[in-house]
Formats: sequence, structure tokens, C-alpha cells
Amino acid sequence: MAADGGTPGFDPEAVRTKYLAERDKRLVPGRADIRDLRTDEHFTHYRDDPFTPYAERAPVDDEVDVVVLGGGIAGVLAAAQLRKAGVERIRIVDLAGGIGGTWYWNRYPGVMCDVESYIYMPMLEELGYVPTRRYAYGEEILAHLQAIADRFDLERDALFHTGVTRAQWCEEAARWRISTDRGDDIRCSFYVLAVGILNLMKLPTIPGMEDFAGRSFHAARWDYEYTGGGAHEPLTRLGGKTVALIGTGATGIQCLPPLAESAEHVYVFQRTPSAIGVRGNRPTDPGFAGTLTPGWQRARMDNFQAIMLGRPVEADEVDDGWTHHYAAVHHPPRAEGMTMAEYLRSAEAFDYGIMEEHRHRVEELVDDPATAEILKPYYRYLCKRPCFHDEYLSAFNHPNVTLVDCPAGIERITKEGPVVGGRQYDVDCIVYGTGFEPELTPLPRRAGHQIVGRGGTTLADKWAEGAASLFGMMSRGFPNLFAMPAPGQQAVVTVNYTQLAVLGAEFVGRTVGLLRRHGVQVFDVSAQAEEAWTAKIVDSFVDGSAVMAACTPSRINNEGHPEAMNPRNGNYGRGMGDWFAYRDLLEGWLEAGTFEGLEVERQPIPS
Ligand code: NDP
Repeated sequence: MAADGGTPGFDPEAVRTKYLAERDKRLVPGRADIRDLRTDEHFTHYRDDPFTPYAERAPVDDEVDVVVLGGGIAGVLAAAQLRKAGVERIRIVDLAGGIGGTWYWNRYPGVMCDVESYIYMPMLEELGYVPTRRYAYGEEILAHLQAIADRFDLERDALFHTGVTRAQWCEEAARWRISTDRGDDIRCSFYVLAVGILNLMKLPTIPGMEDFAGRSFHAARWDYEYTGGGAHEPLTRLGGKTVALIGTGATGIQCLPPLAESAEHVYVFQRTPSAIGVRGNRPTDPGFAGTLTPGWQRARMDNFQAIMLGRPVEADEVDDGWTHHYAAVHHPPRAEGMTMAEYLRSAEAFDYGIMEEHRHRVEELVDDPATAEILKPYYRYLCKRPCFHDEYLSAFNHPNVTLVDCPAGIERITKEGPVVGGRQYDVDCIVYGTGFEPELTPLPRRAGHQIVGRGGTTLADKWAEGAASLFGMMSRGFPNLFAMPAPGQQAVVTVNYTQLAVLGAEFVGRTVGLLRRHGVQVFDVSAQAEEAWTAKIVDSFVDGSAVMAACTPSRINNEGHPEAMNPRNGNYGRGMGDWFAYRDLLEGWLEAGTFEGLEVERQPIPS
């Protein structure tokens, strides 16, 4: 393919017309409507934990140094860094029955992380661990997070199967007061929100869902009691059963091959096809560990991140679909002397070439041409989160797998099963692989409880018109509160979420250590610093709505409404943000140790 737009077969007008027609089939009213699983009268039980029995316990009434809300990657890393800073009493609080966050909940068949394990699994050097595969299975990631928790003794004071119902800053005590759904009353000096970015399961509002008479569940609460088996074992109780799999995103595509192996029949209900790139998973080379030198993991994460940002690197260490396709489409080649118009045209042609590769892959792997056609993604690569898998597409060659095309969604669900195009599909079980509320969901909603700061103001009220923060991690009026950095929150976005969690955790741990060394009891963000940070975020916001409006609807373009994106919820730097500048800034701030941008109240020094 040529960088000047000379991609073979590229007819811009024809391609745009096709893409818009595919978009329009999916832009139907109510497509993004969801049931609120916290309150929905029929489906709140979907949130129940199928993995760990719920045990009664007495309410806790005590005082600790830090409460960390969330025991996933971000929470575990933040707590580990706090430990390193010498903090003794840390309470992790989580609705789950144990450590792990997304890897605690997502145990569906075939679960695997599609970001390379050597950069995704944190603290590998510190724990002396080398992942067994290039892309780790969920069980291995969960065990690793557990190992980190063990190393830093984080479960000792943890409260699992516990939801925070309210957090209130108490001025006189200079403490946060945390109330929970188990009747706990915990006072803490610092409160860390590590609630995750895709933590709220999403169920669509398909008419009649509640009437279905068979078994149904969300993929993030896999019902192994019903299906039998395990994440990487045959689903022994599905023999003779017909299953409906709704959703073909990163989760659905991983679930299908194991479902196809065990069930009598699987109907896959597809609203929008994902672009499925090559996976190339393989066991870790036995010689790999011997090649690693101190600092290798940070360097490898940086190498990946540099490629994502289009920076020059000596070698592509990860060398996969993210670096080949995702990064390349973000930063298409630009020949010298190209005008902006020429560049945009050639970027479109380049994108077309990459999407054609994906469409050809479907043709190569799927025997039935009609099925293959339905599985082909017709949109620009960045319109939807890309997927990578080597067994998903060929699963449609099994006689017991049927693809059901439903671009406008499922019409309704009856007692017997889903209805599409007037046809009723009788099934025993429905698996909702319908995803999560988007990562841009405002923090107060992701946190799921009232966070009440100075003067009785809630974070939800303060952020009603958009985020306001310093570094995306602290907010004026909410003293001694940290929020782990996340998309939509004035920080940066990274494809490898772990890298952001590592940075946020180091910042929280080192800041608390610094505050303690300086005898600071209370910090708050100064008005000036918050205004300046927010202004930086707004100033660097790039309005991509002209391009994104042509996309097939997805959470990336706000389900077809990119114009509604709020610049205040943007990133530090253009687009996904400037990771390296952001990290330099935080590390420089910590090195200086002057608490610039904070108002600090020191403890009286005893005479
Ligand atoms: P997604 O949001 O990506 O996919 C949900 C699927 O459900 C889509 O195919 C969607 O269709 C479909 N859907 C929703 N509502 C309906 C409806 N009413 N009728 C028919 N279909 C419907 O969720 P996932 O759980 O797959 O993934 C969420 C995110 O979690 C990923 O993007 C990724 O960030 C993360 N993840 C990461 C993994 C990893 O390996 N790192 C693995 C799994 C998940 P449509 O596309 O039209 O909206």
C-alpha cells in the first residue's frame, strides 16, 4: 500500500457511502439504553457473586490510615505503594469476594488479556515472575494480583463483599468517614478511589428480557454451576443445550470457541462485527527470562507506549496487532510536503487498507461466504475497540454455530429466547456479553456512592458539568482524596491500562509518604492550580466529532453522538494525551517535594 493514498481498490466515495450505510443501520433510537443493575427490579441479582460464598460478619468500627476502594489492579498497586511508603493500616474495600477487580469478575470461558502479558501484568520484576504465555489467561493474572497482595500483606485488613454507601470528609477530625452496606463505620486519613474504568456491567433494554424462562447471566458473572467446566476446561453441562451469545466485542469473541466446543448449538447475535486481528498467542520462550535486565518491564511498557504515540523507537518489542495496526492507524505515514488535505486523504486510504486486511482475513477463515460477509467490519479501524483472536472466526465453520445478523439489535426476548427479523430462536441459556458502561462514565457514578467533601458538596455535584482536578487525581474541596487516573478524568489514556495504574499508584504512595515526612495532616488542591489544570485539559481537547460522526456507533464515539463529548473530561495533551509529558510532570512534582498546587495544613510540631 502506498502512503500517498494509492491503496489498491480504494474508491473514497464508494467506501464512505458503504460505511455510512452500515452506520445508519445501527443508529437506532435506544441502542445505548441500559438497565441500571443497581436498581432494576428484575436484574439486580445479575450482580451477585457466583465465585465466593457470602459470609456474615460483624460491622467494623475503627480508624485506619487509608481506605482504598477497589481491589483490582489499580487498588492493589496503590496499596502496595502505600505499604512501601510505610503506611501500616490500609483497608481495601471491594464488592468482590477477593482481590482482582476485573480479573476477579471476568472468568468466562476463554478469558485472556489481549494486551501482552509482559507489559500488562504489573510488578513482574519485583515478584520475580515471568508469565507463562504471551497473552495471559485470566486465571494467571488473578493469581498474580493475589501474589502481589500477599507480598504486601494487603488482605489482612481488607473488607470484601462490601460496598461503600457514603464517604464524608469530617473537618474537625480531619478524616474521611466511610460507611458501607455491611454497617461499617471507618475513619481514615486518606481515601483512594480505585474503582476501575469498566466496572459497571451493562445490560441492554431489550423488550421482554425479564420473561425469558431459561438461564441467563452476564459474561462477567459466568454461571459455571449451570454450564459446568471452567475458564479453560470443557463446559461439561452444556451438552444438549442451546445457547444464545449476545455481543461480539472483546468478551464475546473469547467466549465463542469454548461455547461452540461444548454446547449443542450456539446462536451468536451480532449487532456490529468487530475487527478481529491476528492474536499469535504462544508459550513464553524458555530463554526469555535470561534476556531480561533490570528495569526491563518499565522499558518494555515505554517502548509499547512510544509506538502508540507515534514516537520513534529502535525496535518494536511487543510487535503485535496493537503496534502494527492500532498505532499505525493513529499515526499514518505522512510523505514530505503533503498538505493537510492530502494527508487526511492518504490516512483514509491507509485505514481502508488495514480494514481490507481484516475483511480478507474473514474470507480466508470463514467457509460460508454469506456468513463471512456479515462478519466483515465496514467502518474505520478506530471507530471501535479492535479485537484479536485466532479461533473466533473459524468457530463459525462448526455446524453447531449460527450467526444471527441484527444490526438494529434484538427485537425482543420471549419466554423461549431472542427474536430477530420476526424469527424466534428457542434457547436454553442466554449469555449477555454486552459489556460495561463506558470508561468515560463519570467517576462519581463509577464509584457508586456519595462522596461528600467540604461544605457538604458532593463530587457528583461538583463534576456535574465536567471534571475539575489537579493531575486528574485530586479535586478541590475533597481533601486527602486521591482518584486513580482514568479516561474521562483529566489524566491520560493508555492502551495498556496497567501502565497508567502503575504511575497513579506510585504517585499516591509517594505523595502520602512525602506528606507524612513533612508533617502534613491535610491537603487540598488550590483553586488556582485546579483552574490552571482544567484549562490545560480544555485547551488541548481536539474535537474529533467530524470524523467520529461517520463511525459506526460504539462507546468510542459516544454511541453516535461524538459532538456531546465534554472537553473538560479530556486528557493531558491531544487525543489520548501525552503519556511521557504527564509522567515527567508527576515525577518532577514528586522530586521537587514542594506540594505545588496544594494547600497544606501541617500538624503542630511538638515542642
Ligand atoms: P463491548 O461493549 O465491547 O461489546 C458489547 C457487545 O454487545 C457488542 O458487540 C454490542 O454490539 C453488543 N450489544 C449490546 N447491546 C446489544 C443489543 N441490544 N443487541 C445486540 N447486541 C448488543 O463489551 P465487551 O465485554 O466485549 O468488552 C468491553 C471492554 O472490556 C473491551 O472493549 C475491553 O476494553 C475490555 N475487555 C478487554 C479484554 C482484554 O483482553 N484486554 C477482554 C474483554 C474485555 P455493538 O458493537 O453494536 O455495540
